[in-house]
Amino acid sequence: MKKLIAGNWKMNGSLAANEALLQALAAGLPGQPACAVAVCVPAPYLAQFQALAKALPALAAIDLGAQDVSAKASGAYTGEVSASMLKDFGCRYAIVGHSERRQYHFETDALVAEKAQQALAVGITPIVCVGETLAEREAGQTESVVKRQLAAVIHANGHCISEIVVAYEPVWAIGTGRTATPEQAQAVHAVLRAQLKAATDQSARVKILYGGSMNAANAATLLSQPDIDGGLIGGASLKAPDFLTIIAAAAV
Ligand code: PEP
Repeated sequence: MKKLIAGNWKMNGSLAANEALLQALAAGLPGQPACAVAVCVPAPYLAQFQALAKALPALAAIDLGAQDVSAKASGAYTGEVSASMLKDFGCRYAIVGHSERRQYHFETDALVAEKAQQALAVGITPIVCVGETLAEREAGQTESVVKRQLAAVIHANGHCISEIVVAYEPVWAIGTGRTATPEQAQAVHAVLRAQLKAATDQSARVKILYGGSMNAANAATLLSQPDIDGGLIGGASLKAPDFLTIIAAAAV
């Protein structure tokens, strides 16, 4: 399966910084990267990406993603951005259930499942994030937590579950510089793979990304694990040379 390397810019960037970053990525990417590449940008910058992609043909190798999507289709939901709006701006992906949204915006498993449903309804691939906190890992609850989080999405989206991307992101590894070991990550990915296999006979199509302090130095080892099909990259996706190194590591 072709791997996917997706950058999550989080709430970073400016018109000038984004342009410089995208230009550096366009200049450094091989014409046909051996993996799929995406950047999930803050909503106000979706249009900037779309415009720049027209001017820089090399950006065609990078798909556009959003960092969240509303659980509602339209209407009186001030501040929300709907899936069809993201589609208007050419989004191919939308992250749902990132731990920062679960933690700071109190998003529940059920809400995340509805968000995935909205994305799928317009042909956007939801990147469904699951992951345990440090306390949950230490209490031996890693498997049950990630299975519960994924089960909600499977339950609400069973018929098209093979269209999602899953990202295993241990909360204790996000933005901390503390990466899961390849063995720790692989063990959880195998659990998620088995869960998907039980849910659909198309499970081989579902990419399971690892996210949590993946960087230029550790990407190759993580990506060589049998059930790690790519990465969701936060901090390192803001530095073109690092992101390009991770993309190159995913090609082998
Ligand atoms: C993320 O935000 O999804 C992430 C994995 O962040 P970082 O790579 O900075 O840990």
